[in-house]
Amino acid sequence: MKTLFVAFESDDESRAGGFCEALGQPWDSVHVPADALSDAAATAVQAAVQGHTHIAAVSSMRSKDVMARVAGLLDCGMVTDVTAVVSPTVFERPIIAGTVTATVEATASPVVLTFRPSSFPASGQGPASSTPLTVGPSLVQRTATNVRGGSRPDLTQAKRVVSGGRPLKDAETFERVIGGLADKLGGAVGATRAAVDSGIAPNELQVGQTGKIVAPDLYIAAGISGSTQHMAGIKDSKCIVAINKDPDAPIFEFADFGLVADLYDAVPELEKSL
Ligand SMILES: Cc1cc2nc3c(=O)[nH]c(=O)nc-3n(C[C@H](O)[C@H](O)[C@H](O)COP(=O)(O)OP(=O)(O)OC[C@H]3O[C@@H](n4cnc5c(N)ncnc54)[C@H](O)[C@@H]3O)c2cc1C
Repeated sequence: MKTLFVAFESDDESRAGGFCEALGQPWDSVHVPADALSDAAATAVQAAVQGHTHIAAVSSMRSKDVMARVAGLLDCGMVTDVTAVVSPTVFERPIIAGTVTATVEATASPVVLTFRPSSFPASGQGPASSTPLTVGPSLVQRTATNVRGGSRPDLTQAKRVVSGGRPLKDAETFERVIGGLADKLGGAVGATRAAVDSGIAPNELQVGQTGKIVAPDLYIAAGISGSTQHMAGIKDSKCIVAINKDPDAPIFEFADFGLVADLYDAVPELEKSL
């Protein structure tokens, strides 16, 4: 029994040890080049699978895209967003916006998995081998790339996230207030669906059940009520700080630190003090 870990980001390998240790077996690591297209990357991973019983990656939009193709090519099952290993074929994963934890069994071999690194300790044994993948030609061609967010870290990988909700007046105010604090912290910017639907924040910043799942060390929620759908995307955050002017806002039930204040006073003050 051996795991093939597929690294998509430069720090993925350092986040894999705890999960591979929970599986209780040695692991090799292959690295997918950043510019590889999904179909070609999946074919390259498939070629590297031989001798491995588990193919695993850190949960992210990209890994789920590629690993689903790997599972298809191998004609085996896939378990996403694993949060606990019960046995090498039985895993726990959240369903229904994280309100229920399902225990699922993978009945085909190999087993293709993505896991949430925040659910496993950072430490653990390193890989037996670490190899960059050679990715062949793709069936599709990238004709344009539109990157938003400038130099900010990727929302799903960021160690610090500052998110804003509906009370931010407009896009300019959102960027100045929420973006300003995020930049001071070297973090990413997130938003609620209400902020996105109001046109205050771009769609790709939405965090939650129908947005991105984040698991930073620090999540600052400014002017966010704490709806179940939003909390589903942030519940793995190590420390949640809520700033809300309503002392009865539901988010205070989940927050590690709560500040009852107007975000227009508190956020700039926080930014100034850093
Ligand atoms: C199927 C479905 C999927 C959904 N998916 C998502 C999702 O993925 N992500 C998501 O976020 N939502 C999602 N939603 C929407 C969700 O239910 C909430 O409507 C949304 O999260 C509320 O956003 P909000 O907290 O910004 O706004 P509001 O609910 O309007 O809350 C604003 C908060 O800001 C506080 N406030 C107001 N002014 C200030 C101020 N000046 N300073 C400080 N605090 C202030 C208020 O007290 C309030 O608590 C989904 C809903 C459905 C039905």
